[in-house]
Amino acid sequence: MSELITVVVPCYNEQEVLPLFYDKIREVMGDMINNYGIDYELLFIDDGSKDKTLQILREYAKGDNRVRYISFSRNFGKEAGIYAGLENSKGDYVVVIDADLQHPPQFIPQMYEIVTKEDYDCATTRRVSRKGESKVRSWFARKFYKIMNKISQTEIVDGAQDFRFMKRKMVDAILSMPEYNRFSKGIFSWVGFKTKYIEYENVERAAGTTAWSFWKLFLYSLEGIFAFSTAPLAISSLLGVLFCLISLIMIVVIILKTLIWGEDVAGFPTIMCVMFMLGGLQLFCNGILGQYLSKTYLESKSRPIYLARETEEDVR
Ligand code: UDP
Ligand code: MG
Repeated sequence: MSELITVVVPCYNEQEVLPLFYDKIREVMGDMINNYGIDYELLFIDDGSKDKTLQILREYAKGDNRVRYISFSRNFGKEAGIYAGLENSKGDYVVVIDADLQHPPQFIPQMYEIVTKEDYDCATTRRVSRKGESKVRSWFARKFYKIMNKISQTEIVDGAQDFRFMKRKMVDAILSMPEYNRFSKGIFSWVGFKTKYIEYENVERAAGTTAWSFWKLFLYSLEGIFAFSTAPLAISSLLGVLFCLISLIMIVVIILKTLIWGEDVAGFPTIMCVMFMLGGLQLFCNGILGQYLSKTYLESKSRPIYLARETEEDVR
């Protein structure tokens, strides 16, 4: 029996680009059958799309035995989509790829060569430019990677993407991490294994629009920090120690000052400033603590990562 590649495609409102993607991926994977004799299956994850994505997938699944899909009961996010894809993949190799053609499918043969011929478990792409992205956005992205790599033991590579070609072993390793707060970039790196990065220039979306607003990306980056680093907790304890020291010095200074020059009632503005500052700092540190607590809370509920409403078996 020949080997199998599972192509996992998370889709959220991708009706415009899906036909383009479907043609392209079939072309590339068809060549793989001819050149390497390896078969493939396409596993689309419809992440609760509100447009015609699901209808399109149903049509594909009816007409093409290599197409499978899982449709979520609502939008669970791309991370959940990737998890569902990996969990339901049957292939000896799994490739995760965006539906919007920003991850050029023509890289797949090269990735396959790397994983099968060289000593790697995973091949992935890394964009070296952020062409077509706003300046502010790329500035924040760069800063995020810098900070993240300083405060976390897990290395997060700048420009690394979710476009990955993996061996079964690595897929199983990822699935062994059942956490609810999934930050894929961190998870891919945390499991280790040998990964080769192919560098390429950023490609813009073929059609449709991105689901990621600046704000969503910002919150996502915070997720990443809280999921893979406890540095914010350490920082808040350090701030606590620092302010204790400052207060000790202040106590001595104030006692001496009072003994030497006597007491005066002035100083109301100073007190107000210090009060506001310390109050603010305390709330800030409480907030950090709260973030970790809330993550723990959600993990402890062990809710499912995704819920399927329909799969290709319902239409065949
Ligand atoms: N996506 C998803 N669920 C979401 C948002 C996005 O499955 O809630 C999919 C989307 O269909 C696409 C991929 O994730 O295939 C990347 O999304 P997008 O192109 O919007 O992000 P960007 O490329 O701007 O990072
Ligand atoms: Mg995209």
